Amino acid sequence: MIVISGPSGSGKSTLVREVLKDPAFPLEISVSVTTRAKRANEKDGADYHFWTKERFQQGVAAGEFLEWAEVYGSFYGTLKEEIARRREQGKGVILEIDVQGAGQVRRTGEVTRSIFVFPPDWQACEARLRARGTENEESLGRRLACAKEEMGRANEYDYQVVNDDLNRAAGRIKELIKPLFMER
Ligand code: ADP
Ligand code: 5GP
Repeated sequence: MIVISGPSGSGKSTLVREVLKDPAFPLEISVSVTTRAKRANEKDGADYHFWTKERFQQGVAAGEFLEWAEVYGSFYGTLKEEIARRREQGKGVILEIDVQGAGQVRRTGEVTRSIFVFPPDWQACEARLRARGTENEESLGRRLACAKEEMGRANEYDYQVVNDDLNRAAGRIKELIKPLFMER
């Protein structure tokens, strides 16, 4: 399992998409569950499994999650089933999850690489979030307010990558995970 975290707007999803385009890395992304509202460009089952709060709570009670956390006022979690299915197929899996979830997953002892993505600076982080056009002012403020605390936990990760130039940052992530595929 490869874990990637970073503040909202740092560019994690974009970077992960870049890495997955490269056939040298037989990896799949674990599709998380969330209780937040679906964005216009998102597909249920592909970007996230969009669940109600009630269904999420049932999942927690039934032990369906490998990890879960409340992030920016919504619940997010990784289904054990998402990992198990890929493990059976011998595939590597990327978890794009927050710092709380990463802590929980690390305790399983099955994380082979963990990477924290930094935005180049505060202005870029806010500008990217605004340009993405998915958040209202309240959500934007909540996300930026959490960034400092999230970045304060970057040292819990094996590696830190600054997402300044997209190609350069994606190249750096590929370099960091390459040894995992050479060992196979
Ligand atoms: P996150 O998943 O960390 O919240 P996204 O991947 O959604 O962030 O990226 C936020 C916005 O920033 C998107 O609109 C994306 O296209 C843009 N972006 C991502 N990486 C870069 C980069 N290196 N340079 C400029 N814009 C970027
Ligand atoms: P977004 O709402 O922008 O898609 O994601 C917000 C935050 O939730 C990001 O920090 C993202 O990494 C985190 N997140 C997404 N899926 C999961 C998950 O399954 N578990 C945890 N703990 N966090 C997640």
